[in-house]
Amino acid sequence: MRPSKIICIGWNYRSHLAETNAVLPKEPIVFFKPPSCLIGDGDNIVTVNDTGNIHHEVELALIFGKSGKNIRESDSLSYVSHVAVFNDITARDMQTKARSEGNPWCLAKGMDTFGPMSRPVPIGAVKDIHNLDLELSVNGDVKQNGNTSMMIFTVEKLIAYVSRFMTIEKGDIMATGTPEGIGPLVKGDVVIAKIDGVGELKNKVI
Ligand code: MG
Repeated sequence: MRPSKIICIGWNYRSHLAETNAVLPKEPIVFFKPPSCLIGDGDNIVTVNDTGNIHHEVELALIFGKSGKNIRESDSLSYVSHVAVFNDITARDMQTKARSEGNPWCLAKGMDTFGPMSRPVPIGAVKDIHNLDLELSVNGDVKQNGNTSMMIFTVEKLIAYVSRFMTIEKGDIMATGTPEGIGPLVKGDVVIAKIDGVGELKNKVI
């Protein structure tokens, strides 16, 4: 099912703040990626000229099984039908330039193939969504390590917060932020993102 939107959360792990010169957010930082950026396991991440540094960001993705507005925290997980591994590919130089100029960073996050996502698994198969190990490796070297227990805003808080402002529609995806260790990808790299009990996502950069 094609989502109406991919809702992304920025700076949701304390350890990731310093490496991007960000301050502790008082409320979740929300942005979008377009559905046209989605690719699957085994597909190629395609770089284009003039974008500068491309970075990886392993994230837990939520997939919504029903629509909701003003969702209560206590109720929020009942809206999530599946989870998946997501890699929030970012043209970092473009994003940094946009941030410094006070401009939106849509293009830096929204290019074609910048949204690799693993095959979704039912949320019922996940033991504890608040205690999942995330790991990302490039060419076999582990670059990112984290656990969903380290989120600044919990999954429930994120859903309640975003749905105050916009309807979350059935099929929508929410990428919940990345832990520390983001770094560059270059042509030929093979990037593997994993979340325990959720799956594995392998993509090559071309
Ligand atoms: Mg991200």
